[in-house]
Amino acid sequence: MALDARAKALKAAGQPVISFGVGEPDFSTPEPIKQAPDRAMAENATHYTTVSGDPTLRTLIADRLSEMTGVPFKWGQVIATSGAKEALYIAVQVLCDPGDDVLIPAPYWVSYAEQAKVAGANVVPIDSQPPHWKLTPADLERHLTLRTRLLMLCTPNNPTGAVYSDPELAALAEVVGDRDVAVIVDEIYARISYVPVGRWLRAAPQLANRSFIVDGVSKSYAMTGWRLGWLVGPPELMEMASALQSHLTSHPSSITQRAAIFALQNDPDVEHTVDAMVGTFRQRRNAIVEGLRSIDGIECSEPDGAFYVFPDVRGLYGRPLGPKGRVVQSASELSTYLLDDALVVTVPGEAFGMPGFVRFSYALGMDQLEEGVERLRAALRS
Ligand code: PMP
Repeated sequence: MALDARAKALKAAGQPVISFGVGEPDFSTPEPIKQAPDRAMAENATHYTTVSGDPTLRTLIADRLSEMTGVPFKWGQVIATSGAKEALYIAVQVLCDPGDDVLIPAPYWVSYAEQAKVAGANVVPIDSQPPHWKLTPADLERHLTLRTRLLMLCTPNNPTGAVYSDPELAALAEVVGDRDVAVIVDEIYARISYVPVGRWLRAAPQLANRSFIVDGVSKSYAMTGWRLGWLVGPPELMEMASALQSHLTSHPSSITQRAAIFALQNDPDVEHTVDAMVGTFRQRRNAIVEGLRSIDGIECSEPDGAFYVFPDVRGLYGRPLGPKGRVVQSASELSTYLLDDALVVTVPGEAFGMPGFVRFSYALGMDQLEEGVERLRAALRS
């Protein structure tokens, strides 16, 4: 947050900042989706919806998930939320009591840990390793205790871009299968992948009665500002989730819900635009991985999904860098140096529970990406 504030101040002062810090697609929402609100207004869809969201939207979500996984979902098992973030928050509140352990593979998106703490739970990070960055069944087994209440998975992953396959998910499901452990799977980046994406419930349908799927339109349809996500889970717990939402936000914006209904209807223009976005992300992924690998001291594994790379920067520690011979000893010192001296924004691994690494988002144009890599090369030359 401190780096972000500094980057914004530099930008406001007219400095040519290049940001690899962005957590959202740099594309516009597809045009046909942008027209949905006008129709919604004309039809006066401007009042409260039901607390869990418009049944049409929830039916679409349930049907998609059923089709994808083979597990039959009813629309009553879905609540539409104000972004995937609220879905995660509600799920953790419903599942966790103070003192419960929540297992979170590290590196992890920072809100997982903060939301677990808000529920009074203990965060138990389980370090994963490059180049694959995946939780292994053996590591999961080692961290399970009688206090373990919840496992949180994110695939494709922020910040590593790792994408679990069905067999990998099935192997993890086997470990938690005979324990009283719930699972939340965050699939918000599922549409942005360069390999086939594993689906938790397709791999582990037997765990549907204690699994929660979180997703939304933010990343897949470049709709971050619209605030629409969803939570799908077992019926009794979804009633509690809905009760919580009724006292929290009531429901997501009625207009946004109408736009999401349109987004999820497989409109050919929309799907074409999204496919093109993913294709562009893939080209940028290739370019940034190649660029970072060409810099001495950086080790970069190739991510399979989302729009982040998470290279190892420990090889840069303790040696004079750039024209001023600056020496850094941590990822956050490196990110600070890159912002101050190269006007390049990155997010240090400390923010994801994994020091020694830095996250680069490639949600920026190819010109900016290439210019950014050139600046890095100059600033990191020893
Ligand atoms: N999960 C992950 C892993 C994310 O990276 C983000 C957004 N940065 C979210 C959830 C939240 O998405 P939303 O904007 O739909 O709340």
